[in-house]
Amino acid sequence: MNQDQKTIDISSRKVVTMRDVQDAVAAGAHRVVTAGNCVITPSARDFLQQRNISLVSNGTAKGAACAVPAPKSSSNGTAAKEVSASNPRLFSTPEAEAIKREICDVGRKLWMRQFVDGNGGNISYRIGPNEVLCTPTLVSKFDLTPEDLCLVDLEGNQIAGVKPRTSEIFLHLEIYKAVPEAKAAVHCHPPHATAYAITGRVPPNLVIPEFEVFVGKVAISPYETPGTAEFARTVLPYVKQHNTVLLSNHGIVCWADTVTHAEWYAEVLDTYCWTLMLASQLGAPISHMSEKQGSDLLAIKKRLGLPDVRFDTSRMQECQLSDLEIPGSIALTPMSCDGPTSSPAEKDLEKLVKSVTDAVMQEIGTR
Ligand SMILES: [Zn+2]
Repeated sequence: MNQDQKTIDISSRKVVTMRDVQDAVAAGAHRVVTAGNCVITPSARDFLQQRNISLVSNGTAKGAACAVPAPKSSSNGTAAKEVSASNPRLFSTPEAEAIKREICDVGRKLWMRQFVDGNGGNISYRIGPNEVLCTPTLVSKFDLTPEDLCLVDLEGNQIAGVKPRTSEIFLHLEIYKAVPEAKAAVHCHPPHATAYAITGRVPPNLVIPEFEVFVGKVAISPYETPGTAEFARTVLPYVKQHNTVLLSNHGIVCWADTVTHAEWYAEVLDTYCWTLMLASQLGAPISHMSEKQGSDLLAIKKRLGLPDVRFDTSRMQECQLSDLEIPGSIALTPMSCDGPTSSPAEKDLEKLVKSVTDAVMQEIGTR
């Protein structure tokens, strides 16, 4: 080992917090030794990773989750295979308790805005490399209490919490596995955005600055039965470059760095869709910003670290900042930046035509 590497031993701590690692770094640590059976808060782990400081277990509890560094993302953005064992103790750390309260607050906001009908909608937060806090199934988001929440691993296995986890957790987990920056996800059914989702249309761009900065271009994923693995995977082509996706004939999903921010994006999208619908009733055309004004907003967005498919200038020939091809339109056929694609309805029709053709051909062949 390099003699210049200073090691600081904090293996006496049962819980390693941000304060502990900040103290170790202030004392010049290049390596931090912890007890094998300790709990390390995610913020403490992130703090060390960002500074390239090794986290080493002293081996008192070999294989404990805290002894394993968080998985690094592979080049294609998916989490590396060697995910650490899940750690149920992350369910009751002070950080987890604070996030549980935030999830409950966000649940009530969603309910009060009528984004979650009945027991609909779900909220999650990735609290560790292989641990995700989430809402339970069959509880109204208005009635949520911190005791209702669940902890699952990245495969959806419940590892803590009394109530059974939401059946739609796989949608959230696919996002966490595909997008390392995603720490929180909110799925809900806001009426105005869902109106777009059931017509297979997306709202146009360059109308309201806040929408451009926080959401921007919205993608729409094809319909699959909710709760299934197929449904969860429908968002994968979009989630790296869109923080908000319309789910055909269903609702929306948003991801962000915090649960509160993910809920903001749902609000921004639904209000935008609603405003467009109201404006369309006024009998006057909607005015749009210029492409230059749109570029200025994109620059702000980039500084905020938010994703947008329009940052990829290599694809900008087909994918302009706005979609003004239908003047005054408030609902557009979704356009892939790789060129036009079939809408979900068109794909269903194609499937139907193909199955009828196959059946006719088979019939002819058997005669
Ligand atoms: Zn749903």
